[in-house]
Amino acid sequence: MFHYPDIDDAIITKAAQIEEELKEVFHRIDEISEANQYKVLSAFIKHKVCEADFNSGSGYGYNEVGREKLESVYADIFHTEDALVRPQITCGTHALFLALSAILLPGDEILFLSGAPYDSLEKSIGITDSPGSLKEHGISYRIVPMLEGAHFDFEAIRSNIRENTKIAYIQRSKGYVNRPSLSCEQIKEAVDFVRSIRDDIILFVDNCYGEFVEDKEPTDAGADICVGSLIKNPGGGLAPMGGYIAGRADLIERCAFRLTAPGLGKEIGGALGTLKSFYQGLSLAPKVVSEALKNAHFLAAMCEAYGFHASPSSQDVHHCIVEAIDFYDPEKVIAFCRAIQHSSYVDSYVTPEPWEMPGYNDPVIMASGAFMNGSSIELSADGPLREPYTVYYQGGLTYEHGKYAIMRALTEIMK
Ligand SMILES: *Cc1c(COP(=O)(O)O)cnc(C)c1O
Repeated sequence: MFHYPDIDDAIITKAAQIEEELKEVFHRIDEISEANQYKVLSAFIKHKVCEADFNSGSGYGYNEVGREKLESVYADIFHTEDALVRPQITCGTHALFLALSAILLPGDEILFLSGAPYDSLEKSIGITDSPGSLKEHGISYRIVPMLEGAHFDFEAIRSNIRENTKIAYIQRSKGYVNRPSLSCEQIKEAVDFVRSIRDDIILFVDNCYGEFVEDKEPTDAGADICVGSLIKNPGGGLAPMGGYIAGRADLIERCAFRLTAPGLGKEIGGALGTLKSFYQGLSLAPKVVSEALKNAHFLAAMCEAYGFHASPSSQDVHHCIVEAIDFYDPEKVIAFCRAIQHSSYVDSYVTPEPWEMPGYNDPVIMASGAFMNGSSIELSADGPLREPYTVYYQGGLTYEHGKYAIMRALTEIMK
């Protein structure tokens, strides 16, 4: 047992006991990581990834062999016909909006099967009015909330499918709402159900925080298209920016036409020196995600041991890397986030304060001392200051880093 000089002995002893209890959980996570590592490695080998693939050009960015190959590697991993993986896709919200606006035409409707989408999409969809929203372009939406315990409300889904329903949208991770994240098995049930009603509806999945958590992806569950951010799971902590879209070839072509211009599509858009980090980050991603998942279980178990409520619980199978802890006390939320910040590699000397973030009704406190600005596959935590005073924790590129930060945060909280 390593004795950290700045952490209470009682917490170090408790951590050792909890790691013992989590052995089987960790073993299961290792097995998934092993399967995903093989899947990723096989795609690299099949496409003969080589050093020259890391080069990128200038100007239009024609003939960037490595960029095209990377997109084929992604398509193989997601078992899809094609993929778009670009630094020009700036974040997850951008990737989701890009894909939606590429596919939907005026008069079409999106049906949200897993409740309201992630907060950052409210203006994109037009749930909150905004210039440039899909709503402004004549695209409507309907939201079917999930039933208690994250079950799809199949009856409500059936009655909300209309003639103009073009996309059925599923969010795999709970994001920042209080429901369990979805397994690929559950996603498959919803996909099959919608298909049984109408087989021309496009099944669309927001895959943020879900990649490599299971040995399957939503596209293995029958989704037509899935979308995510490279400063989360699939970037492996090395991608400095970017997003991906994987799916049916006709849909990816539309997305590429929307990203650049009809007729140009995937042919242009230089990768600007990002390719090596995209490849190497992807090669590490299965392992990095497994470390983040272990941290989520470890945090849950530690907090349970000290009487707080963790969701998912330490023994639940996790379906995304987010762990939510209810502290029932604003001071504890602040202390937790500060300790996480003070345990970061970057900006450890900074003390975060709650602030009025645009788009949120309550002050939010955030800890993010990441190498990549805003990266949440790196150690990060945030909490809106409202009942029940929940902290959302993600990431940690290595288990040991997350473990230390969590122990330090609990030392502060138990003071
Ligand atoms: C992070 C996230 C997004 C948005 O991604 P950004 O990169 O923050 O724009 C969308 N959906 C879910 C579920 C997410 O976790």
